[in-house]
Amino acid sequence: MTGRLSSAGTGRYYFSGHIEGTTRDACRRCLTEVDVPVADDVHVLFAESGGEDIDDPDVYEIEARDYALDLRPAVREQWLLAVPPLVTCREDCKGLCPKCGADLNLGACGCAPAHDPRWDALRSLDEQAR
Ligand SMILES: [Zn+2]
Ligand SMILES: [Zn+2]
Repeated sequence: MTGRLSSAGTGRYYFSGHIEGTTRDACRRCLTEVDVPVADDVHVLFAESGGEDIDDPDVYEIEARDYALDLRPAVREQWLLAVPPLVTCREDCKGLCPKCGADLNLGACGCAPAHDPRWDALRSLDEQAR
């Protein structure tokens, strides 16, 4: 994390920075663990408790007597916002077989494909053609 903290008036501090890294999440289709790159700009306003805009949800409250400003809770929250909510290991992930749970990216499993009436129509067309 890089950034700069600057004073933004009496008892107010503005942090502007950039977070970058990776997080580990499960692909929503096949549940494989994937490294997800996370990078986002962070802009956070801190205000001492008792200030006038402390009701603003974008403002982090700090204790006026704090000598050191703890950025970690704010940065952690910004990080969670930057993480994509739905992760897939790759664009064309085939996912898991709904029957046996096999990873279809590794090849077809032994299960019969789910019954789909559209295939019957295709099959009968195919038989007529012969
Ligand atoms: Zn996947
Ligand atoms: Zn299967």
